[in-house]
Amino acid sequence: MAGPKPKRVVLQGLPASPGFAIGPAYLLHPEERVVKKRIIPPEKVEQEVARLKRALDKAYKEIQGIKNRISGDVGEYEARIFDSHMLMLQDSEIVDTVIKDIHDNLHNAEYAYSARVNALAERFESMSGGFLKDHMSDLRDVGTRVIDILMLSENNLSYLEVPEPVIVMSRNLTPSVLSQFHRKNTLGLTIEVGGKTSHVAILARSLEIPAVSGISWSGIDIEPGQTVIVDGTAGTVILNPSLRDIKEYEIKKAAFFANEQELSTLRDLEPVTTDGKYIEVSANIELPIEVESVLQYGGDSVGLYRSEFLFLTRDDMPSEEEQYQAYKYMGERMSPRAVTIRTMDAGGDKLVPALRMAGEMNPYMGWRSIRVCLDNREIFKIQLRAVLRATAFSNIRLMFPMISNLWEIRESKKLLDEVRKELDEAGIAYNAQLEVGCMVEVPAAVVMAEELAREVDFFSIGTNDLIQFTLAVDRANERIAELFEPNSPAVWRQIKSVIDTARRHGIQACVCGEMAGDPLAAIVLIGMGIDELSMGPGGLLEMKKMIRSISFEEARICAEEVIRLTTADEISGYLRDRYAAKLEDLGVAKYPGKRTAPF
Ligand code: PEP
Ligand code: MG
Repeated sequence: MAGPKPKRVVLQGLPASPGFAIGPAYLLHPEERVVKKRIIPPEKVEQEVARLKRALDKAYKEIQGIKNRISGDVGEYEARIFDSHMLMLQDSEIVDTVIKDIHDNLHNAEYAYSARVNALAERFESMSGGFLKDHMSDLRDVGTRVIDILMLSENNLSYLEVPEPVIVMSRNLTPSVLSQFHRKNTLGLTIEVGGKTSHVAILARSLEIPAVSGISWSGIDIEPGQTVIVDGTAGTVILNPSLRDIKEYEIKKAAFFANEQELSTLRDLEPVTTDGKYIEVSANIELPIEVESVLQYGGDSVGLYRSEFLFLTRDDMPSEEEQYQAYKYMGERMSPRAVTIRTMDAGGDKLVPALRMAGEMNPYMGWRSIRVCLDNREIFKIQLRAVLRATAFSNIRLMFPMISNLWEIRESKKLLDEVRKELDEAGIAYNAQLEVGCMVEVPAAVVMAEELAREVDFFSIGTNDLIQFTLAVDRANERIAELFEPNSPAVWRQIKSVIDTARRHGIQACVCGEMAGDPLAAIVLIGMGIDELSMGPGGLLEMKKMIRSISFEEARICAEEVIRLTTADEISGYLRDRYAAKLEDLGVAKYPGKRTAPF
């Protein structure tokens, strides 16, 4: 006999990747994974205990975050269920037993933790009574979260073999795990942790998977296989939708698809303003295979290849040859168009397993990016060698991330020169005219732009990091996502100053942060004199359409006004009043930021 009809639940999160998906829920849940038993070497016991404690700490903070959100959105009473979750995490009976298991039996942390949770859950199960049953499901929920953290950080992918098209509902999803999902079987995605410019959200947009972030299904009754709608455009998730919902979303999906078809006619049109200024429209990609989408959408070049993705999904380092093959493939496929390879930007939310990067208190401001490379010069030189070798065949450019002072750019260039010399000695070909640029994504680099401009051939403004560092707003923290304000005058003024400096030095100015893919922000960037806008491949066609509809002169006047204004509200209001209707008429803003950054 069929059970009661599951309840329709609407959850509101953040629109992380536009588009619509309807399908069965796949709960990314450790019960469906094999928690493998490993015997750890005795000298690693303390390390393993520390790993467990970090995971418990992280789980505690996450639950606290959910509790605060729910108490604000729903009510204090409903939020109280999370108190028992927090207590369980600190329960010394559980924690001490797990630590003892690690010490005595040399078990890995996730195995020891899951064994303890399973033993307790079985004990509760054998007792009758509603209270204990509730307690058991709370325990399993907490256990799932801790094991999620331990396993995903360990890059254990055995549970990811999704056999059919599903909506993946995840918790601690890392970019490295998402990059290995079966794309065709991932219809849509819900993410619990991470703001709109977290790398998981960026990757979802690149892969064109509709996604909503800030969605927690803790405490909600949902079974695997139940129907879910993901509205990545509005940031809504509907669990167990009604027939009416399904009909409505089928129509939205069809309209979205039709709009895409219409845009595809723009593929070969040039991104030129009505008064004849060519704006290079390029793509940000994380995986080499994405060059196919860039070509499909008529991108001028790859403005940012996030090379660290080569390093995220494995326990060892990719060899020079493996890297060379990846770079060569992209360069050749895109040729004669350019491919800008950014050197490994590890850290933050992109931990490289082979570097044993530990979780840090402030990961975005920690051991990250160029700092990691300059501390690991042999690894850095292997990458530079692979890039240089690939330049022999195609139009590749090189870019250093997170530069915050002159020493870092000079030191990086010195290493590049060393590698050039080694290649010369070995008689290996490369492009001696290779263009070298740096990202401007730390306010210190904006201040030092004059001096940095003398060191490089181009600037690429990374607005994602620039906003987070300027406003002191962690880009990956969904709780403060509203404070992540691209239209802050402090952000716009820095962008203008960098573009002006590039102009004075005759070097190219590009933007590769998510702002470049937002049609409204792009008008201002164009007006400020930007040469290249680099965005997720899905935003290219819309951007071309927008560029072809405005004049540079009009954009220039708009940028002048934006620089004059003194609050984010004024700037947003001005841009909306002036352009929202126009973009809507164009079909560019009909689904706000259809596939582009949903700002
Ligand atoms: C940025 O910070 O704007 C950027 C493009 O780099 P990432 O998003 O990879 O940090
Ligand atoms: Mg960055």
